[in-house]
Amino acid sequence: MTEAIGILGGTFDPIHYGHLRPALEVAETLGLSHIRLIPNSIPPHRPQPIATVEQRLTMLKLAVEGHPRFQVDDRELNRQGESYTIDTLVDLRDEFPDKALYLLVGTDAFLHIQTWHRWHELLEFSHIVVMQRPGELPVMNEQTQAWYQQHLADKESSILLCGKIWPIAVTQLMVSATQIRKTIADKCNPQFLLPDAVIGFINQASLYGVE
Ligand code: ATP
Repeated sequence: MTEAIGILGGTFDPIHYGHLRPALEVAETLGLSHIRLIPNSIPPHRPQPIATVEQRLTMLKLAVEGHPRFQVDDRELNRQGESYTIDTLVDLRDEFPDKALYLLVGTDAFLHIQTWHRWHELLEFSHIVVMQRPGELPVMNEQTQAWYQQHLADKESSILLCGKIWPIAVTQLMVSATQIRKTIADKCNPQFLLPDAVIGFINQASLYGVE
């Protein structure tokens, strides 16, 4: 069987269980050898992160310590300018020419995928996994819907290295980094929303309003 690699990009400001648990479920469902967590340096579609790139990288490493199915990949931090997913996929395809690549995105992100830089080329380099709540039917605009239908994976698709869209049902945890930052700023306890080792680092580095 072709070895397959998952890719989860994000700001990870901070990493939390809403990232890790769905990613693990996708890895198990699709038999991915590992998931690469790829922090972005200058995210194009959102406000800039509060933690520095080094701090976000440290939190990622602490979160996955002892979990070899997750690997931290800092390639976007070494690039100048904005982080575009397409550049990362081109890079990974170059590095892993004979492995299947699966880009993991939440339903919300997928609904806006046509705003991404060179979005129509994404499938030339990777598959796309849409992480859905069980039973959820995302409401897409006409163009996204047509693209989704045209590339929807079927039974034969698992031999392909790229080119298909895979809706996968995952346990969605209503956790966001925004909520965690607010919880901390409000002097409340964020425990069980993210790994203890990450909380330890946040406290030590006085991040997000810790005094
Ligand atoms: P913020 O609240 O700061 O916007 P976030 O918690 O959404 O951050 P990101 O780093 O922006 O985290 O997310 C990276 C990726 O993880 C995105 O594709 C996003 O859709 C997905 N993601 C984030 N939180 C969840 C969650 N609770 N369940 C499933 N996917 C998630």
